[in-house]
Amino acid sequence: MTTNEFRKHAHELVDWMADYLDGVGEFPVVPPVAPGDIKKQLPSLAPEHPESFEAIFGDFRSVIVPGMTHWQHPGFLAYFPANNSEPSILAEMLTATLGAQCMLWLTSPAAEELEERMMEWLLDMLGLPATFTGVIQDTASSSTLVAILTAREKRTGFEINRRGYTTTDRFRVYTSTQGHSSIDKDVKIAGIGIENLVKVEVDEEFAMIPSRLEEAIQKDVEDGLVPLCVVSTIGTTSSTAIDPIEEIGIICRRYKLWHHVDASYAGTALILPEMRWMSKGVELADSFVFNPHKWMFTNFDCSAYFVKDKQALINTFSILPDYLKTPEDKLVNNYRDWGIPLGRRFRALKLWFVIRTYGISGLQEKIRSHIQYGQWLKDEIRNSPEVELMAPTPLNLVCFRFSPCKLTSEKEVDAVNSKIVEQLNRSGNVFITQTRLNNKVVLRFVAGQTHTRFEDVQRGWFLIYETGLKICKEEYQTR
Ligand SMILES: *Cc1c(COP(=O)(O)O)cnc(C)c1O
Repeated sequence: MTTNEFRKHAHELVDWMADYLDGVGEFPVVPPVAPGDIKKQLPSLAPEHPESFEAIFGDFRSVIVPGMTHWQHPGFLAYFPANNSEPSILAEMLTATLGAQCMLWLTSPAAEELEERMMEWLLDMLGLPATFTGVIQDTASSSTLVAILTAREKRTGFEINRRGYTTTDRFRVYTSTQGHSSIDKDVKIAGIGIENLVKVEVDEEFAMIPSRLEEAIQKDVEDGLVPLCVVSTIGTTSSTAIDPIEEIGIICRRYKLWHHVDASYAGTALILPEMRWMSKGVELADSFVFNPHKWMFTNFDCSAYFVKDKQALINTFSILPDYLKTPEDKLVNNYRDWGIPLGRRFRALKLWFVIRTYGISGLQEKIRSHIQYGQWLKDEIRNSPEVELMAPTPLNLVCFRFSPCKLTSEKEVDAVNSKIVEQLNRSGNVFITQTRLNNKVVLRFVAGQTHTRFEDVQRGWFLIYETGLKICKEEYQTR
């Protein structure tokens, strides 16, 4: 492709992109396809001869787009959002164009220094302690792995990195029963072992009970095990429960454990001063992660990881083969030593575009309105006798279930709610997910799309409500 052709096609794509963003609500949120439907439309072998851009782009529109789940759709109420925004998309285009590999300061000085500055901006925007230093990781899963590995190495004087696991010490990692599944995965990868991940009991609001944590640590010490790290959560995935960060931090200090705070989703809300109660005591923590790629209008992937003992992080991950040595090594950050991969994308650029385009006040306004939508729905549900609110709802994730009075067994109620989710998602109008709280099937509704308006939230809720009531009624009649 010549640059002239590139210029022409790029303009066509930008038109398509703007139309897509305007019209994304017209697509079914989840495509009506069966496994294999897309693959069978793709030739089994790569083309022998060059194909035209028109042919490729035509197939993108006719094969790929109809097979996509549309995450930016106003009816996407599932999981947590992975929202994006126009400035973020534009920055991603530039990142792709520069095609830089940002592993060392020398391999892209501006990328390294912009990343430093963006992490300083975020630190200030979220009200995090000035003792933290930030670095961009790909995901929260990797960030938490980085935290656990750093905790392990700091604890052992970097012995396991050097000699492997030579002792029979059994390290213990603690999180609540509501902790994210990435923690399970991370303890496996870190060689801690899944049996050494202790799931601490939660209270009626699904937040970790600090006294239970302390009891578990004490028992482990008595049994000759080695408590290493606590992963607490600001905004759990099932219900956005907020662990008591300060009390957990005090316990970690007392027993000399690493305290990592997982605020993957809810961390963005800390840009609102009125939400800072969630992070009270974060200055006692050793590390903190949140994902601008979830709720801060920044394309996946972009995870902001903050750590207090920067040197322990670097000592855990640094490698210095001759071919990577540069004269500036002592003066700059070489981010290859701050995480797992050597190669790194230029992710700071999209943050810079997003933060400058919205300004702090613009971001606050959006996040505030998303939280108001959640609070509106919470009140709606409280006033609907057929629907039960299942968790406290501090933010914009609302957990509820239909509990028709004639169904008496929990199993029946679960089955009805699962059926509601299935039917709604098949409709293509909305996409919601379910979870379990207190062993009951619960529906999750989270409205955090960049351009979600109050009307979209109302519309989504009315669809769910109607479908729910209809299915409940059908269920009564078949009994
Ligand atoms: C989404 C989520 C994660 C995982 O995030 P990735 O960036 O996809 O790895 C971890 N913890 C919590 C609480 C989450 O909500």
